[in-house]
Amino acid sequence: MSDCIFCKIAAGEIGKLVYEDDYVAAFDDLNPVAETHVLIVPKKHIASLNEIDADEHGAMAGHALAAAAKIAAERGLTDGYRLVSNCGAHGGQTVMHLHFHLVGGRAMGWPPFPEE
Ligand code: 5GP
Ligand code: ZN
Repeated sequence: MSDCIFCKIAAGEIGKLVYEDDYVAAFDDLNPVAETHVLIVPKKHIASLNEIDADEHGAMAGHALAAAAKIAAERGLTDGYRLVSNCGAHGGQTVMHLHFHLVGGRAMGWPPFPEE
């Protein structure tokens, strides 16, 4: 999608990729919430998890999950990490190109409602 910032980053037109394969690309978040905060995105534009079709996107989804584990290992996140995809308004999604937040480097709480 021509006016999508994550499409441009995934295509290598702007920014710097920290990982890529045939299906996904990954780059550091602009406003990191932890020492490691990487965004893993499909190279082909998909708006959110709501558009996932298992047959069409299964390989991409598998590559995204494998990329998360690979990047986590490269970053030395031996104590663990979190992988999150915010979906829609209640999920807190602000960029409408599917992305997985890989966050690590500090202990995180659960459930994820710090304001309550
Ligand atoms: P969301 O709120 O949609 O789950 O997450 C969007 C994420 O994208 C945010 O963490 C935000 O900091 C990040 N972000 C927004 N615009 C850019 C950008 O142009 N470059 C990078 N690297 N990250 C971005
Ligand atoms: Zn896009």
